[in-house]
Amino acid sequence: MKTVYFDNNATTKVAEEVLAEMEPYFCQFYGNPSSMHTFGGQIGTKIRQAREQVAELLGCDPSEIVFTSGGTESDNAAINGTLAAVPNKRKVITTRIEHQAVLAVCRELENHGYVVVELAVDKDGQLDLNELQENIDDDTALVTIMYANNETGVIFPIDKIAEIVTSRGVVFHMDAVQAVGKIPLNLSKCHIDFLSLSGHKLHGPKGVGVLYVRKGTRLSPFMLGGHQEGGRRAGTENVPAIIGLGKACELAAKSIKEENDKIKQLRDKLEDAILKRCPDARLNGDKHNRLPNTANISFEYIEGEAILLMLDKFGICASSGSACTSGSLEPSHVLRAMGVPFTAAHGSIRFSLSRYNTEEEVDYTLEKLPSIVNRLRELSPFVAK
Ligand code: PLP
Repeated sequence: MKTVYFDNNATTKVAEEVLAEMEPYFCQFYGNPSSMHTFGGQIGTKIRQAREQVAELLGCDPSEIVFTSGGTESDNAAINGTLAAVPNKRKVITTRIEHQAVLAVCRELENHGYVVVELAVDKDGQLDLNELQENIDDDTALVTIMYANNETGVIFPIDKIAEIVTSRGVVFHMDAVQAVGKIPLNLSKCHIDFLSLSGHKLHGPKGVGVLYVRKGTRLSPFMLGGHQEGGRRAGTENVPAIIGLGKACELAAKSIKEENDKIKQLRDKLEDAILKRCPDARLNGDKHNRLPNTANISFEYIEGEAILLMLDKFGICASSGSACTSGSLEPSHVLRAMGVPFTAAHGSIRFSLSRYNTEEEVDYTLEKLPSIVNRLRELSPFVAK
């Protein structure tokens, strides 16, 4: 059976070009970049190249790139590393719809006496920037807000947010894990202090990411040990993964516009047809300010998990809410924050596409999905017979 993979916000296929670039660094060039000998030392050149490739995609200086183990580590490091650097300030501002890699850290901070403000979102998943403005005060150490939401794809107006936050002299961290490679970003034009990204969301390997640290921003080192990453993040580098991430960024930088236009066309075809052919289906999130690859659709009165299981029988992979929370049947915190009714939040499915999806796959899914929805509705106790 073929696999139709529409779960690219959970993780992506490693690009063949990325794998080819990584391969020699397992068994052939396996040295330690910190070694004095040429065999190990030469690897430092490749890591430098990867740093440049990431910096090119982000529009920043290579010295501002710190390699980490992924988005979660970058988020944790930005938050905890900032608070350790400014111990006299005790307030953090975030939003209700962040990924758990931010929310769980913020909630833990509350146990340590910090004041954490979680900004609300409206029915489209957008923030009220006045609320942000009003909450910043002299005790605010950090504002941490995502660029694009992993569940709905909704994009926040990050330029305006950065302007509000940094004009008050407060540190701004942006979780851009879902945005990098999908929408353009230029850090030379926007004052962001920290940015998190993750390799496996942009056709790079898993277990590698980046924390961008703007020059001059204070950050307490978050892994102590050796001198790697300028003393900011100790530990022998994950060489093949870093090289792979560099290549993934190079590929993304080359074709971000054309690729995402094509992905958006496919996403729109899938979304429009689903909304037309399935009664009581609704789109979740701001239709216009959204990642080009994501469609989050609620099918009222039926369970998202039941739809997923039936799609799975046809080899179609999607997700009901964030991959990281899909072990539980709690409706997504993102949809709840947007005020999506319970019966709709439970029946939500996220389709997230990538450069590897085809029109054929969209057509195949459209062939299967409406009848799955009809069948489940016939069984639903919530639907009047
Ligand atoms: N932040 C966001 C918005 C995400 O979507 C994810 C992963 O789904 C993460 C952080 C965590 O990234 P990683 O899986 O690399 O730890």
